Amino acid sequence: MFVDIAKIHIKAGDGGDGAVTFHREKYVASGGPDGGDGGRGGNIVFLADTNLSTLADFRYKRKYAAKKGENGRGGRCNGKKADDLIIRVPMGTLVKEAETGRILADISDDQPVIVAKGGKGGWGNTHFATPTRQTPRFAKPGLPGEEYDVQLELKLLADVGIVGFPNVGKSTLISVVSEAKPVIANYHFTTITPVLGVVRMGEESSFVMADIPGLIEGAGDGLGLGHQFLRHVERCRLLVHMVDVSGSEGRDPKQDFETINRELKKFNPALAGLPMIVAGNKCDLTDDETVENFRRYIEAQGYRFFPIMAAIAYETQPLLNEIREQLSKLPPITRYEAEPAPLPDESEFTKQEVHVEVHDGVYFVEGEWLLRVMRTINFDDSESLQYFQRVLIGSGVIDALKAAGIQEGDTVSMYDVEFDFVE
Ligand code: GDP
Ligand code: MG
Repeated sequence: MFVDIAKIHIKAGDGGDGAVTFHREKYVASGGPDGGDGGRGGNIVFLADTNLSTLADFRYKRKYAAKKGENGRGGRCNGKKADDLIIRVPMGTLVKEAETGRILADISDDQPVIVAKGGKGGWGNTHFATPTRQTPRFAKPGLPGEEYDVQLELKLLADVGIVGFPNVGKSTLISVVSEAKPVIANYHFTTITPVLGVVRMGEESSFVMADIPGLIEGAGDGLGLGHQFLRHVERCRLLVHMVDVSGSEGRDPKQDFETINRELKKFNPALAGLPMIVAGNKCDLTDDETVENFRRYIEAQGYRFFPIMAAIAYETQPLLNEIREQLSKLPPITRYEAEPAPLPDESEFTKQEVHVEVHDGVYFVEGEWLLRVMRTINFDDSESLQYFQRVLIGSGVIDALKAAGIQEGDTVSMYDVEFDFVE
């Protein structure tokens, strides 16, 4: 079965905890702190696997969690970082945040992409030693790993999509011009999986063609296969609209052409705007006059028209030449950019629950919401920092620090960030 949508849960590993230990050695009186840092939790990484063509595996396994980093130990031993968890998906898979639809990654080349970051390891007490604080009895826990419900959506990577009614000969065409071997039979919906074929033209040039399974009017008549597959046309640079010009199944080719165009537009207006070449198939089943009549109708609308007999590869070469010619002038296959998490609205963070703890003059601030904000902050960007400062004031963090007795120059520690307090 062809599955091209799946929902899964991913959770990167938490960071390991920092250690509180002190150096001990025979005959050495008071050893200093030597607690090591925790290791980073494992990332969740997505990687394209060209052996996969559907998301079927994800129907059975829906939860993916990477391991926690190792805790730090004495003797300044840092914990080992946990291995990344690699999730293999078919080429062309979009990873979206389920809740918002935000694109997290487009897995459309051979580069691995980190989608959920493992939590940083916590600092061991070694880090907190200063001339005035020689025996820090505290360390930090590891940060939690990022966690998402994600929707996986396969959007095939093809230069050319062949669209048209069922049974017009789409699969036949792809089988005669590429190495792909789709199922071909004389009944509707034999193709229920989009098939990709590489068309090689000479030594240098090639393109990828996708046979998109039968579209049919309305899709509401119970057959309903069509629209599910239109998603796969969305990346295409060019469409070949195939029509049974002989009307061998009792339909009118002109009406077929209009119907499919309407369906494309209904699904996504951008599809209707794609460049389109029209192939009139099954010319052997009709006369020249019918074909020429259809040609005039198509050309009057500004499309190039190619009469063919896909079954015997008759006149398919001129069609391929035209495809190559048009592709050479078109932009490359659409690749989607990851969308950054939006900065949450500041007002969302007024008067939050703030937890301040003081250890040896370090002010530790915690709050589940605070971690959420900090993940969206880019600490190298001044605008982002100003936003963060406003959130700290609005949420009551600054007031809470003052209530705990903080003084100018004292150290504030918030998860993986440390800074000196200034009024
Ligand atoms: P699809 O549903 O559009 O993929 O159509 P298929 O490629 O499966 O073809 C449907 C039927 O049309 C099959 O029986 C093919 O053998 C037949 N067919 C394909 N091309 C031609 C052609 O040029 N002439 C004739 N007479 N039949 C064809
Ligand atoms: Mg087919």
